[in-house]
Amino acid sequence: MTEWVLASRNAGKAREFDAMLAAYGIRVVPAFVGGGVVVPETGRTYLENATAKARFALEQRGQPALADDSGIEVDALSGAPGLYSARYVSDDPWENVEAVLVKLLEVPWPLRTARMRAVVVLACPGGRLYSAEGVIEGRIGMVPRGTHGFGYDPIFVGPDGRTLAEWSTDEKNAVSHRAQALRQLVAQWRAGAGSRGTAGQ
Ligand code: IMP
Repeated sequence: MTEWVLASRNAGKAREFDAMLAAYGIRVVPAFVGGGVVVPETGRTYLENATAKARFALEQRGQPALADDSGIEVDALSGAPGLYSARYVSDDPWENVEAVLVKLLEVPWPLRTARMRAVVVLACPGGRLYSAEGVIEGRIGMVPRGTHGFGYDPIFVGPDGRTLAEWSTDEKNAVSHRAQALRQLVAQWRAGAGSRGTAGQ
């Protein structure tokens, strides 16, 4: 079985990657177990941040390293929280969810459009880089609903009117922004269509 290291400390994302990649015969193991290593997310784009994380994990572990950078973009907030989704008003996901709901109190349903975006990068020994992006469109609900998932899932209403936290793990992993990005990435990797690009440098 192929093994990639995963440059993420987010347990929710790690669970999703693990489940999605198992279908391709790829096992992911955490790159940084118990250590205090944090790659600062100082890039101006999701791609820069994901590339920096993947390259760092590759350097540390010498194995193909997968990283993602993702966020939720709310149109009524001019695209915020975006790149700063994990630390919008605090490190606490519920405080961030609450902050978005409060800012949208006066915003009617038709104007509550939003999307989740994920960029995934695989950095391989020898310098080859693979990257792909996925997006899922939705709206910000009026109140949180559902118990699955993580982060903003309880307020992100998908195309069927349920929040992502009301979707089962399998439902989310079939169509999510992360799933779409990962599908493209695996296809590129299988085709050996990586670049020796300099994204994120
Ligand atoms: P980062 O990619 O580690 O910078 O964190 C992205 C942040 O965006 C997460 O901590 C969540 O707050 C949010 N996010 C990204 N993907 C999802 C998702 O699938 N569901 C809910 N929130 C998400």
